[in-house]
Amino acid sequence: MEADIIVQGFLESEKLHGIRYKKLIGDGDSSVLKQLVERCPYGRQIFKVECVNHLLKNRTIDLYELQTKWSKSKEKVPGEDNRNYEKEFLKDNRIKQIGKTVRSVVEDLSESNEDANSKSAIIRNLGAHCTGDHTKCRMEYCPKSGQRQNTYNLSTAFLFELSDIIGRPTEHTSSITEYQTTNLCESLMSLISKYTGAKQVFYGRRSSYTYRVHGAGLNFNNGLHWRSKMHRFRYEESPPSLLKQMDNKRGKICC
Ligand SMILES: [Zn+2]
Repeated sequence: MEADIIVQGFLESEKLHGIRYKKLIGDGDSSVLKQLVERCPYGRQIFKVECVNHLLKNRTIDLYELQTKWSKSKEKVPGEDNRNYEKEFLKDNRIKQIGKTVRSVVEDLSESNEDANSKSAIIRNLGAHCTGDHTKCRMEYCPKSGQRQNTYNLSTAFLFELSDIIGRPTEHTSSITEYQTTNLCESLMSLISKYTGAKQVFYGRRSSYTYRVHGAGLNFNNGLHWRSKMHRFRYEESPPSLLKQMDNKRGKICC
């Protein structure tokens, strides 16, 4: 459905506004672009820009997955150092800190005149930077440039996986340069959902809060079948089947 709406917008852009949309800001899902290429006459000229927020949010999700993976207790080997340095390193605070660092660098790079290769190299080096190895850091981005600090005794396998996750935005260097987000669409969707009740209930609507408080009170006093009870009390007749079904759904026998 989402793809259909966007495709329709692209199809009517020339007729309604006399323009062609050349860019599409997306969230990592490539199905919309595929539909545009197939259905829009100028689909092959459309360039997809990844939303920076989604790009960075996905990295944080990957880091939490890495944390779960390495938090599992290691097999103890007698006579060896059995401390889980990786678990000690990748705490929640560290993940948040890494997220902030990557966002800050990506923001700086979006405004910089560096070429794509230099931008990729800077982002790829962030994994080493976050683990205390600043030997390849550039002075303008890191005050500890050239230094090598405590490397936290992390295993090579862990360092490789961490650097791989942190460096993944390099796959979208052009999107970093664009530095676009889908915030406007997200805000609009949030408002629409609020009024249609699609994803959340709008408690601020007129009397909505009061009705819910009354409902909570009746529920507390009469149990989950309070609707049927109130109907019987008010109209002195058996409640309609729909109301009974609703109460039954809540796991209680209707009165
Ligand atoms: Zn550094």
